[in-house]
Amino acid sequence: MANFVLKGNICYSENLNKIRIIPQAYLVCIEGESAGVFRAVPECYAALPVEDFGESIIIPGITDLHVHAPQFAFRGLGMDMELLDWLESHTFPEESKYADLGYAKRAYKQFVNHMRRSATTRAAVFATIHAPATMLLMDRLEESGLVSYVGKVNMDRNSPDILCEKSAQASLADTEQWINDTKTRYKNTRPIITPRFIPSCSDELMHGLAALAEKYQVPVQSHLSENLGEIQWVKALCPKAKFYGQAYENFGMFGGKSPCIMAHCVYSGDEEVELMKKNGVFVAHSPMSNSNLSSGVAPVTKYLEAGLNVGLASDVAGGCTENMFRVMADAIRASKLRWRLQDQAVKPLTIDQIFYIATLGGGRFFGKVGSFEPGYALDAVVLDDRSLDHPQRLDVRARLERCIYLADDRQISAKYVAGNRLF
Ligand SMILES: [Zn+2]
Repeated sequence: MANFVLKGNICYSENLNKIRIIPQAYLVCIEGESAGVFRAVPECYAALPVEDFGESIIIPGITDLHVHAPQFAFRGLGMDMELLDWLESHTFPEESKYADLGYAKRAYKQFVNHMRRSATTRAAVFATIHAPATMLLMDRLEESGLVSYVGKVNMDRNSPDILCEKSAQASLADTEQWINDTKTRYKNTRPIITPRFIPSCSDELMHGLAALAEKYQVPVQSHLSENLGEIQWVKALCPKAKFYGQAYENFGMFGGKSPCIMAHCVYSGDEEVELMKKNGVFVAHSPMSNSNLSSGVAPVTKYLEAGLNVGLASDVAGGCTENMFRVMADAIRASKLRWRLQDQAVKPLTIDQIFYIATLGGGRFFGKVGSFEPGYALDAVVLDDRSLDHPQRLDVRARLERCIYLADDRQISAKYVAGNRLF
């Protein structure tokens, strides 16, 4: 693996409330990891090649902690509906098409191309119930150079015939085979257990998936407390659970032994938050999706104050773009409206906080990821913001703020994942 130095205006989170900005600095990469950021190249690295990005801004790669690859095909459609109707009318018919590998090949190629060009360096991805198409997606993601967890989805009830596995046993057998086929097949792509959500999975299936997660040491991802109708439905399906998260906990799939990502958490109450904290569950905050599907606004700063792990997510196609800058700006806007209209006890997000959530917050699910501190994976995005023109002089901090509100893949001039340059 090549060792090298990147030069530019370097920005990364010092902590939740502070972005560290080091103009015209040197970021040293050794064996895929950061060896630190320096104002001058230290003597011991003087022989390394330097890539000079001039006035460009260099930030850690962004983690998309929850994204549905098959839904990319219909991003921007059906947004006049709420979750359960949208699943029936748009999501399930589209996802059923991935039984056809030819269709999956075309659709996943487009998804992966967009992800590769985006600021995202790592992602936790939902596929569909189809193991062959899921493996095809994993092959494409591996080729892209991104690092990802990918889940073959499980659904054995309350789903249309075209998208329902025959039985819990059939679903479990298929999932175990798929784990065995993929767990050591790739360098950067790993399987993750993916029950769609409790309404789609029988008790037998949920217990069986928990056993697989433990047997193969595979993490878990699903959805939690997204929409009021969904929450009522889970209450009826799991009468013994006091709250939605406890239903997952009762099945053995709510963090603790197996690392776990739960998307949304719009309506998590104090007990649910307490349990997420105890079990180290990651919240995948999806503000664009939550506004598109009229779900609500998660109290993110409250979760941060409670010490939860919080990452950011596009949730395509609840979210209509893979562009995580757009999601960052949406998170700030949504938090301001929530603060103004709903609850002034929960403060709105700041630029520093959303930058932290998008980089370090979600990156932590992948280990030492999301920072340029020594020892962190060298995931970097180089932003050439000259096309976002302005007549006045702006410092690096102001330019970074504008990128969060204005940038898309047109401003990304280079991208590195674990020291490998993708473009
Ligand atoms: Zn989702």
